[in-house]
Amino acid sequence: MKTKIQEKFKTLFGEEGTLYMSSGRINLIGEHTDYNGGYVFPGAINFGVMAAINPNGTDKVKVFSIDFDEFVEFGLQEEDKPQQQWARYIFGVCRETIKRGGKVAGFNAVFAGDVPLGAGLSSSAALESVFAFAINEINGNGIEKFELARIGQSTEHNYCGVKCGIMDQFASIFGKEGSLIRLNCKTGEYKYFPFHPKGYRVVLLDTCVKHELASSAYNKRRESCERAAAAIRANHPEVEFLSDAKRLWLDEVRDQIPQEDFLRAEFVIGEVQRVLDVCDALERDDYETVGEMMYQTHFGLSRLYEVSCEELDFLNKLARKCDVTGSRVMGGGFGGCTINLVKEELYDAFIATAVKEFAAKFGHEPKIYDVVISDGARKL
Ligand code: ADP
Ligand code: MG
Repeated sequence: MKTKIQEKFKTLFGEEGTLYMSSGRINLIGEHTDYNGGYVFPGAINFGVMAAINPNGTDKVKVFSIDFDEFVEFGLQEEDKPQQQWARYIFGVCRETIKRGGKVAGFNAVFAGDVPLGAGLSSSAALESVFAFAINEINGNGIEKFELARIGQSTEHNYCGVKCGIMDQFASIFGKEGSLIRLNCKTGEYKYFPFHPKGYRVVLLDTCVKHELASSAYNKRRESCERAAAAIRANHPEVEFLSDAKRLWLDEVRDQIPQEDFLRAEFVIGEVQRVLDVCDALERDDYETVGEMMYQTHFGLSRLYEVSCEELDFLNKLARKCDVTGSRVMGGGFGGCTINLVKEELYDAFIATAVKEFAAKFGHEPKIYDVVISDGARKL
């Protein structure tokens, strides 16, 4: 990737560019907890976006996407917003930097990536983060890292029409090799935990399906959580978000809220505890407990939160059958990937079985991504 990028940079701009890189992410556990003020537990991965960037002494940005084989040039005023979706991510990052008082001098860039687009590994955060990081450094803006993540998040909100949380950009910016990061979505506090699953592999199985339900179902889940939190708050005013509630407090209001809201809340409160349990387990190098928690999360997402689908449940069941240590749907649900923690010696058999049986049932093979927890945004 490096050579390809530099060759193109030379052809277009007559020199070599300074190289930067940022990463996609996984989330080991902590799903649908972000908007409930709970924990998420992501890490950056060995799939990313790499960019060569040099200032060009103009007030224009000239950028070439290798993967889209397309050149775009834009100015830095609000009205200069480019047509191409991929370029809007970069434009947005420039604009959001400027909005925060940062300087953005015109630059030349060539970039490419290997994060699969739209598979739930957050290629968009990788793209935003590499440019947010590089622009900050090149211009000597001194914007702190958390704010760089917010620049990416605001880019999605204001220039790409995606109302996302902070997790993806946070992981992409803060990611560290061999570490997962527990982020408290309410306070912004975070802590690194060791993740060295010796003897195991982490593999994603991509169902390659995306069911339509996703966005309306998402809103309904949020409303359920808010209703449950409000009912609990009547007894326990300190409950700002659902994640502040104890399980017992939920039981107190069982008869006052719809059964559906109860189940949603039961999942969320359990999930917040599971993140904490997984962190404890990691400090003991206890990957069997980590795996068991992943299965519990899948069960909760499937039966209580009801955001799984046939394809995902099929892969999860298959993982159990193949003695995979942990497996669950990753991300919002209704499609996308399962994340699996599998012993080295069982890996080949698991993948072979999963590919064969999934294809036989659904008519297409799942895609396989082997992931390793890696560094996030950086200069190369
Ligand atoms: P994801 O779940 O992967 O973040 P999104 O739909 O949020 O999916 O973001 C994908 C979009 O990000 C792509 O359509 C493209 O505009 C942009 N993008 C991501 N990676 C690249 C890349 N390597 N080259 C160009 N654009 C990219
Ligand atoms: Mg995205």
